[in-house]
Amino acid sequence: MDLILVNRNLRLKDNAALFYGSLSQNYRVIYLYDKCYWNSNGRSKVQFGFFLESLEELDASLKKLNSSVEVFEGNFSELRKYIDENYPQSKIHVNHTTDTSYFRNNFSDFKKHFDRNERILIYSDFGVQTGDVNRDKWAFEWNKLMKKNLLDIPKPNIKSSHIGLTTVLEFKNKFKSDKKTTFQSGGSSKAYELLNSFLMDRSHGYSRNMSSPIEAETSCSRLSPHISFGTISIREIYQKLEAFYPFSNNKSDLNSFRKRLYWHCHFIQKLETEPELEYCSMHRMCDNLREKENKELIEKWITGQTGYPFMDACIKYLRENGWINFRMRAMIMSFASYNLWQPWQLTSPLLAELFVDYEPGIHIPQVQMQSGVTGINLPRIYSVTKQSRDQDADGIWIKKIIPSLEGLDPDEIHDANLNGSYIPRIVDHKESSKFARDKIWAARKGQEFKTIARSVYLKHGSRKRRSA
Ligand SMILES: Cc1cc2nc3c(=O)[nH]c(=O)nc-3n(C[C@H](O)[C@H](O)[C@H](O)COP(=O)(O)OP(=O)(O)OC[C@H]3O[C@@H](n4cnc5c(N)ncnc54)[C@H](O)[C@@H]3O)c2cc1C
Repeated sequence: MDLILVNRNLRLKDNAALFYGSLSQNYRVIYLYDKCYWNSNGRSKVQFGFFLESLEELDASLKKLNSSVEVFEGNFSELRKYIDENYPQSKIHVNHTTDTSYFRNNFSDFKKHFDRNERILIYSDFGVQTGDVNRDKWAFEWNKLMKKNLLDIPKPNIKSSHIGLTTVLEFKNKFKSDKKTTFQSGGSSKAYELLNSFLMDRSHGYSRNMSSPIEAETSCSRLSPHISFGTISIREIYQKLEAFYPFSNNKSDLNSFRKRLYWHCHFIQKLETEPELEYCSMHRMCDNLREKENKELIEKWITGQTGYPFMDACIKYLRENGWINFRMRAMIMSFASYNLWQPWQLTSPLLAELFVDYEPGIHIPQVQMQSGVTGINLPRIYSVTKQSRDQDADGIWIKKIIPSLEGLDPDEIHDANLNGSYIPRIVDHKESSKFARDKIWAARKGQEFKTIARSVYLKHGSRKRRSA
């Protein structure tokens, strides 16, 4: 019998572990539920709700193939013992996942154990490359991978049987549904709906609208949690995009979207290549920049009490929806790292916990980029007051989210100049930006900084020119 482990690849189609593991037509599908994983760096209930819905849909689809998902509750070491005792001959099929240290270290021991007698087969996922990666050829390899034929759905099991683990229904019943309805729903069917509506209709104006938290809600694809939990493969998205492209009137929008599919894997590759990035700045000299933390400031930032209405509205919107657009994520992070001058290692997981789409390989390098610690990207300090004016000139969106501001003058709202009508500002925006700019540019000056930055570029830098 073959054993297939599913993790964050919760789809039937173009799923290598499921496809190859099913060829014997005598296989079982296991999900390892490790409580500690769901409490590790950046993980939260916000993501768990989406995950559970996606697992349920996969289970329902597998039932039509005489199969199902069974849940093993424990950790990788307990799963290893269970497999050794009960399935000493079975091959184990699993898709590679780039994740944070808790998962990576435990999976690595599991893999080593089964590697010894060649029982574990690990399939690559996304366009992320493992082993020795040549950044100069990376884009070429990515394109090649995206053009390969999609894998078919798994073969049916010949006989339906269970190995006696927890069923998905039993598992689901253990969790009271505390998922908020405003968060996105999981499952492959939802991913296809989003992709179709985006290609056919919503992508019109995507490149322009993506910067606005108001427009982006419908103009962006909103596929991110589906890509993170693998309810659809990046390759399938890419191929559907290519098939639709010649007929589209929004070609420049779709070109921007295609670029982002590439960035997805390009970013994850950074964490895959250098797992230490979870805790260390890409440019190690930047780790000494922000040594002292201020828990009170961090708490006010992450709960939307900075005294800057636009900033607070963005955080409240994110808390309500589990998602916000790229520009606002960058501004939120920039505020914590530059204006509040807090270490990104502490703020990064708090922000990640709010995202339904948390993808460590994107989140951590993006956090570092918006904190000016990569050494290879020019530091950008977002002006909250400018973004407030640019994105919500009349303050309508802000007032909808913070009704106590109703009736106040938009200019005063943008400048956070509200004299007692709103909570006080926790920092002066102009002064703190100047402080941060001086610090960051002073750190970048010396030859040693430049030499290290060069080696960061060789390891992680994109060989493509970036444009919107
Ligand atoms: C501080 C910060 C943290 C972030 N954390 C995450 C995260 O945890 N998970 C996540 O998926 N994205 C993250 N992003 C990137 C980006 O904000 C989201 O991918 C995007 O907003 C998701 O919405 P969408 O699916 O509608 O995107 P679309 O604009 O429709 O893009 C399609 C897909 O392309 C990929 N993508 C888009 N933008 C980027 C980018 N800049 N870098 C890498 N891949 C990209 C995503 O997979 C996305 O789903 C982060 C950005 C910042 C600045």
